Amino acid sequence: MTGNTLYVVVPCYNEAEALPGTSGVIADKLRALMRAGKVSEDSRALFVDDGSRDGTWALICSLCEQSPIFTGIALSRNRGHQTALLAGLMAARGAADMTISLDADLQDDVDAMDAMVDAFLGGCDIVYGARSRRDSDAFLKRFTAVSYYRLLRALGCEVVFNHADYRLMSARALDALAQYGESDLFLRGIAPMLGFKTATVEYARAERSAGESKYTLKKMLKLASDGVLSLSLAPVRLVMGAGLVMLAAALVLLVIALAGGDARRWRLVAASVWGAGGIVTLALGVVGEYAGRAYLEAKRRPRYIIADTAGLSVRDTEARRDADETR
Ligand code: UDP
Ligand code: MG
Repeated sequence: MTGNTLYVVVPCYNEAEALPGTSGVIADKLRALMRAGKVSEDSRALFVDDGSRDGTWALICSLCEQSPIFTGIALSRNRGHQTALLAGLMAARGAADMTISLDADLQDDVDAMDAMVDAFLGGCDIVYGARSRRDSDAFLKRFTAVSYYRLLRALGCEVVFNHADYRLMSARALDALAQYGESDLFLRGIAPMLGFKTATVEYARAERSAGESKYTLKKMLKLASDGVLSLSLAPVRLVMGAGLVMLAAALVLLVIALAGGDARRWRLVAASVWGAGGIVTLALGVVGEYAGRAYLEAKRRPRYIIADTAGLSVRDTEARRDADETR
């Protein structure tokens, strides 16, 4: 495919408050890109309703009736940001020459799209949008995010610093992504694995345009652990090393305990028993986590189910069938 049809894919979970503004901004941006001749007239915004409960889907449907520039799919239930985004990308596959994924709250500067599309036209398959600063995030979020990137790097995972999921992907990159069948998706970890020519575009991240963050602490922790556990086996090796150190420590303690009958020494031994028990349990937990994930992956459950579509052409619907068949 050699065209330049762009699909802007927007996962939406309870975004009824933000969508009216967001849809207008995206449509304006798409039209500007069309006028500039950078993207084709067939370019679209594709909203993915991730099982919202606040009328988000009704809103998406009414947008699709107002203008053919809007399209939408609805998942059968809430599956989380990463999966909703994947569903959108796979639905766009076949119709789009490139996709740009974007959050519904417009925290990511849509004006960075020009540079992203330019990089695509210049031959890049993946273009990462990276925040140049995070002033708009609360201190705790900023601190945890930066520490998390450092941890991932230290564990040997390839991640683009300060890049979330604002990313351009070419049709070729989407085809490659479709071959990754894992259900615990960490898209920003998989994108660098795909290879191809990449570029990074920097932008300043803004405040949420409306509503509150849909990423609860639980969802954020799940994303963070998916990142570490789906990309690296380092935790298991760490635990193994800790086990060896403990074994050595236990031998030393045994020698101390055998050397004298002082009660203090026995208390020391008791403490070490508890310590060792704790670490062994932790180790079991880590191993169990991987085993559990292997079990869930082995089931090959569908990652999402599309319940409804709006404003998609026949061609897109074919793409949708492909998406369903990727599992
Ligand atoms: N989102 C989603 N499903 C979820 C949670 C979030 O599709 O279960 C979407 C949400 O609508 C938004 C994007 O993911 O478009 C990022 O969420 P949010 O802006 O709330 O996260 P934050 O920027 O606070 O990390
Ligand atoms: Mg946000």
